[in-house]
Amino acid sequence: MHVFRTIAEMQAAARQWHRAGQTIGLVPTMGYLHAGHLSLVALAKADCAVVVVSIFVNPTQFGPTEDLARYPRDFERDAALCREAGVDAIFAPEPAEMYAADASVWVTEEQLSQPLCGARRPGHFRGVTTVVAKLFNAVLPDVAVFGQKDAQQALVLQRLVRDLNFPVDVRIGTIHREADGLAMSSRNVYLSPDERRRAVAISRGVRAAEAAYAAGERDGAVLCAVAHNAITAAGGRPDYVELRSRHDLRELAEASEPAVLAVAAFFGATRLLDNTFLG
Ligand code: AMP
Repeated sequence: MHVFRTIAEMQAAARQWHRAGQTIGLVPTMGYLHAGHLSLVALAKADCAVVVVSIFVNPTQFGPTEDLARYPRDFERDAALCREAGVDAIFAPEPAEMYAADASVWVTEEQLSQPLCGARRPGHFRGVTTVVAKLFNAVLPDVAVFGQKDAQQALVLQRLVRDLNFPVDVRIGTIHREADGLAMSSRNVYLSPDERRRAVAISRGVRAAEAAYAAGERDGAVLCAVAHNAITAAGGRPDYVELRSRHDLRELAEASEPAVLAVAAFFGATRLLDNTFLG
């Protein structure tokens, strides 16, 4: 398994793979890998001759009061997991390799990135779209795999690829969960044992909303209240619970078209995401 630290090395390898007729799959991550990340690697491996995992805690997608400095990192463990999973190369640049000190060009998406996390984390999606565009230019992938866990991000990145004509096929992997249902996340390590036990209420709330939908409930306020109540009953603090169109993230009063019920909630100081597709 190769480890590339510079864009030039990464591009040189990618060009060589392309010349040999090999397709490249990219799984962008911020590291501290878990089985959810590895499920995306498996999707990439199924379709691509070469799989690259990028590991980069992207400073431009964190707000000034967010957890950039303490975001969990363990490169050796990540590298061992990638090797076991049959990853061909890790691209792990330092921030100074990715961003010139006077960088002044940004990639912004102006619709799908407005609600939900975009409204609560100003500048977050500008950082995400910019770094993913840069990762595409470094890794030159044919396929890029993202997770439904970050459903808004996945939609924004599909729009990025469409609107800027990146020659990249975007695939979305389903949400990988712990045995009790909690969506896997690198940030789960922030939870105290007590918060960890209670945080299962997020997935329980999402499942309860799914069950209500399956039983015929279509009222957005009711579906959201089901999830909201499960979280507050466990001492969590919902940041948002919203029913939105899976097509364009318009807020929906009724689940009358393919929808996403999207949740962000705090347990202690830790903000966690979950969602489900309805219809
Ligand atoms: P992150 O390292 O958290 O930035 O995530 C990197 C990629 O993995 C993103 O496309 C995420 O949506 C995806 N991902 C994160 N958690 C999960 C999960 N539990 N199941 C599947 N994919 C995930």
